[in-house]
Amino acid sequence: MSPGGVEVRELGHRWAACSAAGDLAFHWKCMMAPPTVLDYVVVHELCHFHQFDHTDAFWNEVDKVVPAYREHKEWLRRHEAGMDV
Ligand SMILES: [Zn+2]
Repeated sequence: MSPGGVEVRELGHRWAACSAAGDLAFHWKCMMAPPTVLDYVVVHELCHFHQFDHTDAFWNEVDKVVPAYREHKEWLRRHEAGMDV
């Protein structure tokens, strides 16, 4: 499957989402994240085209592209607290 449309919008408490149709959506707040974190969010969503769940195989794929993904996950977790403010 290849990506369809990409849009930036209000996604509530989620940073990004991908639909089964291959459309990607990113929360507008992603634009305030550091570029490296943003890269991780994009890679994360793209990996969902192959793996729908957060299985070991999924993280393995993410790791191949973004080896420092744990750091970026941590950044998102820390900033998530203020997401709906
Ligand atoms: Zn995910």
